[in-house]
Amino acid sequence: MSYVGPDFDPPQPRRRRRALTVAAAALVPGALLGWVMYEAVGDTGGRGASGDTAVRSPSAAPAGTTPTDATTTDDKPPGPTPTAGSTADSTSAPAASGPLKGKVVVIDPGHNPHNFQHTAEINRKVNIGTNRKECDTTGTSTNDGYTEAEFTLDVAHRLRTLLQKQGATVKFTQDGDRSWGPCVDERAQIGNKAGADAVVSIHADGAAAGDRGFHVILPDRVDAGAADTGPIVAPSRDLGERIAGSFVRVTGSAPSNYVGDGTGLVTRKDLGGLNLSTVPKVFIECGNMRDSKDAALLTSGAWRQKAAQGISGGIVSFLRG
Ligand code: ZN
Repeated sequence: MSYVGPDFDPPQPRRRRRALTVAAAALVPGALLGWVMYEAVGDTGGRGASGDTAVRSPSAAPAGTTPTDATTTDDKPPGPTPTAGSTADSTSAPAASGPLKGKVVVIDPGHNPHNFQHTAEINRKVNIGTNRKECDTTGTSTNDGYTEAEFTLDVAHRLRTLLQKQGATVKFTQDGDRSWGPCVDERAQIGNKAGADAVVSIHADGAAAGDRGFHVILPDRVDAGAADTGPIVAPSRDLGERIAGSFVRVTGSAPSNYVGDGTGLVTRKDLGGLNLSTVPKVFIECGNMRDSKDAALLTSGAWRQKAAQGISGGIVSFLRG
């Protein structure tokens, strides 16, 4: 069953051209040097693809079953394992010192492993400023049943450990400890109420086989209803460009070959989680779960650690200025 969820709508028409990427790199040379290097030497053969992000339903993870995990010995995040009863927005073990001392980062693990069992609740419409949209979606999965919701939580745990080592205070929007959601508007509110210095929403895409690579989604300028992204557009772009540059360097993954014209950046105004944010925020689609080559990366604990390191590097760069 095809569906269109909060993070799977057809992206906005391509806006970011390579020249803009290079121009941005000139502004943030340290952050994007690796990216530009990639652009210069990488395989860009997929550029100019259809841009179609048709999504298949996560049929491999039906309700009532425990999704198969590609569990390996390197599958668990380093450091202490979060307790099962931890609350979604709890702050765990803030570091006493470090370059990010006093900084608050909210990590938004996309979807929820239990959304499959609560379709009525997550299909409820919420106001995202521009229009009304589903509260949340189930997310996608690999063809072998490794769910996006599992992926996002795993990367989130790894990312939290890395950021706490830098002294940051880290909060989650959910930690798999609630039965569904939160809705996209609540996810935004959690970042806002925390007064976050940066928010990153972690996802993996569900595009067609052959569509590969990551992309970072930036908030477009929206002023409608409760949404006013004017103050966050520029800092969110800065955050997103730094994350994209760091992600390329650390993971070696290419920017998406199906959206963003090879820049790894896509700007959208249809995501409630971005529209309703009052603090710098981006999404990252770390890869395409429906492509077998990308799926091999996404199901690897070692690769997920690199993904977390790539995201962390961009956040640290952004927060240190
Ligand atoms: Zn997602």
